[in-house]
Amino acid sequence: MMIQLTPRGVKRLARHPWIFKSDIASVPEGVIGGDLVQVGAGRPLGVAAYSEASQITLRMMPISHKTQDLEAAFMGLLSAACDRREGREVTRLVNGDADGLPGLVVDRYGPGLSLQLLTQAAARREAEIVAALTARYTPTVIALRNDVRVREMEGLARDKRLLLGEAPTVTVRVGGVLRVFDLLEGQKTGGFLDQIENHQAAGRFAQGDCLDCFSYDGGFSLALAAAGRSVTAMDTSARALEKLTENAALNGLDVGVLEANVFEQLRVFEREGRRFQTIVLDPPPFARAKRDLAAGRRAYKEINLRALKLLKPGGRLITCTCSAHLSRDEFERVVAEAAADARRWARIIERRGAPSDHPILLSTPETDYLKVLFIEVD
Ligand code: SAH
Repeated sequence: MMIQLTPRGVKRLARHPWIFKSDIASVPEGVIGGDLVQVGAGRPLGVAAYSEASQITLRMMPISHKTQDLEAAFMGLLSAACDRREGREVTRLVNGDADGLPGLVVDRYGPGLSLQLLTQAAARREAEIVAALTARYTPTVIALRNDVRVREMEGLARDKRLLLGEAPTVTVRVGGVLRVFDLLEGQKTGGFLDQIENHQAAGRFAQGDCLDCFSYDGGFSLALAAAGRSVTAMDTSARALEKLTENAALNGLDVGVLEANVFEQLRVFEREGRRFQTIVLDPPPFARAKRDLAAGRRAYKEINLRALKLLKPGGRLITCTCSAHLSRDEFERVVAEAAADARRWARIIERRGAPSDHPILLSTPETDYLKVLFIEVD
């Protein structure tokens, strides 16, 4: 039983792991959504996860077409992904396609696990996945975070609940700082694991008076305060700032909070003559889709320009984008334009991204979504 591709599908397969509906020549009788299937064009070409709802019909997996037991191969990929993160307590255990497991995200927050099953293939294997993770990590909390829109494209309902445990919160030590993560109500799967190493590096890079813009529950702020800096955190979410204050208290740290819109408040600071030694900009993605790119670029330029103007001589800017469609080059160009308009001489001290537990699939540049620049200005 083999799903046959059109010639265009075969060409696409060589470059990208996803095959669209329009590139499928035929699907054998009896194949249903969530199946792991042989894919070919006369001759076998590989193995994929099949979806009967999504426009993305096939997602290729690193499984040989000669493999007999495809279910065992799937579980083998899961344990290989976990092996790659051996010894990490707070980490992304499975990063979807990059780990060969399309639509499966598993994050580990110490004793808590948080899962996303975003394809029919991942969703159908929920019980086996949970059993394998439970045997390996004996978690006290397991959360299911299927509350994302892509589930609907797969014909799957949005869903958010605890599979194990009474309360959704776990307290874990991250780089010397205690943090409380709410696996049900926290953003994404509970928090921003992709920024954890950048928080710590920022703690080493920052100097003096710091302003953490788009702070959420304080990933950057806590690391900066723990490094002895004086920090003001700014976010529009009162709830996030409350959590930040609780996290700070848990560590005996003091972080000032400001419930404000960054776009407006940076102008207010400029008018007031308020200046900072270090500013962090870690906004939500301003360009979620390709069509938002122009507006996204303008928004990134605006906040970077405002922040650069507020830096004292020798100041430091930590600027991030998590817009998958804005390439590293384009992001740097936007920040360069902002520096030119702010008339600041800016040098990149370090280029960073997501850590090694968020691997990037070479054939899928969008998986290199997080770009972080550590900049020093004169
Ligand atoms: N820096 C955080 C993650 C930030 S997530 C970390 O490292 O963990 C983005 C945050 O930006 C959210 O908390 C959201 O409430 C906030 N936000 C979005 N738009 C904003 C705006 N215009 N002004 C201030 N905060 C904003």
